Amino acid sequence: MSEQLPSRTEVLVVGAGPVGLAVAASLAGHGRDVTVVDRQAKGANTSRAAVVHARTLEMLERIGVSDRLAGLGIQAARFSIRDGDRELVPVRFDRLQTKYPYTLMVPQNITEQVLLDRLEELGGRVHRPCVATGISQNADRAEVTFDSGDMVEAQYVVAADGMHSTIRDLAGLGHNGNEALSLSFTLADVRIDGGLPAAEVLLFFSKPGMLVVAPLPDGSFRLVAEVDDAPEQPDVAFAQRLLDTRGPRRATVKVSEVIWGSRFRIHERVADQYRSGRVLLAGDAAHAHSPAGGQGMNLGLRDAVTLGDALSVALREGREDELDQYAEASRAEAMQVVALAHRLTRLATAPSAVRPLRNGALRLLAHVPAFRRRLAEQLSATGHR
Ligand SMILES: Cc1cc2nc3c(=O)[nH]c(=O)nc-3n(C[C@H](O)[C@H](O)[C@H](O)COP(=O)(O)OP(=O)(O)OC[C@H]3O[C@@H](n4cnc5c(N)ncnc54)[C@H](O)[C@@H]3O)c2cc1C
Repeated sequence: MSEQLPSRTEVLVVGAGPVGLAVAASLAGHGRDVTVVDRQAKGANTSRAAVVHARTLEMLERIGVSDRLAGLGIQAARFSIRDGDRELVPVRFDRLQTKYPYTLMVPQNITEQVLLDRLEELGGRVHRPCVATGISQNADRAEVTFDSGDMVEAQYVVAADGMHSTIRDLAGLGHNGNEALSLSFTLADVRIDGGLPAAEVLLFFSKPGMLVVAPLPDGSFRLVAEVDDAPEQPDVAFAQRLLDTRGPRRATVKVSEVIWGSRFRIHERVADQYRSGRVLLAGDAAHAHSPAGGQGMNLGLRDAVTLGDALSVALREGREDELDQYAEASRAEAMQVVALAHRLTRLATAPSAVRPLRNGALRLLAHVPAFRRRLAEQLSATGHR
């Protein structure tokens, strides 16, 4: 509760989404004094980002959650691009040089719970509901004010307050452009009867359009498709139509329930800078892009672990250059990820006249082992080591 907010802390983390929780767990693990606040009275309980990639799991080892997380998800060793029943490109994660040779399918609410449990094990907690409304800073400190009238003084402030970040905007860490691609996507977590693989992510490049089908640990499946006009809440008939027109041909797949659904448009942007004095950006506050390849939360979690390490060195040794290095390297990685997600989106949503040509080209490219390996490295982000 806000009345228990300390008046001083070493690091104030604004936002307790996956990124804020991971920064806080990292700092608590380094023995630093960290305070985490969130505007919501309770954490979100929806599945949202459902993919955790190999490189992210490698980095999450530093805060001691990788094995726990890996045990709670589906370890999908294969990703397959298809046209109906015909495989165009098989992508093998099980050939990657990593301790985690798969893409982990795990809903975001479980990932957040694992991170929160870790933070609490390390003696931390989240103060809720606390809405940060103002920030000022000088060379030594920053002060954040809250809607309750509370004020917290911190040596550093982490803006992990998501896409519409207040702290980012107040600290003047804006971005050029906020391009929304003119594409509309639907997302539905569904229960089905029938033949879909339980441990493989499928991306259908069908004539009527693209469709992602990915298994979730409770036996349900995540469907994502680009559609002309996404419904606010997809229903069973809508999900069934997507599978019938874009999914497998031979298998009979019956949708019995839509558990959760949503729709979204794609914004593409990266903050011009990740640091302004005592304020640092991480996660969606710093970058937004297409969900193609499931990179968004992954990039944010990697920001979080790197930033937690950098802040602990800065606090311990006064090495501010670590923070500048974080700001530069993480921004450079974001630029690459945004470009990759853009390319994948353009490929997946190619105009219908071009689709047969695209699929033919992909089938040819799939014979080149280096192409398949590169795709696996890019998706898993092991190429960013
Ligand atoms: C419907 C939906 C579906 C998605 N699907 C996918 C997907 O399939 N794959 C994928 O990679 N990503 C997906 N995402 C995006 C993914 O959820 C984000 O990338 C991820 O949550 C980013 O984490 P974050 O911690 O940076 O920000 P957030 O999760 O947005 O967390 C920010 C937190 O800051 C808090 N906050 C905001 N302002 C303040 C304030 N002023 N004071 C205090 N607290 C504040 C918020 O309450 C929130 O808890 C989806 C998002 C949505 C909404």
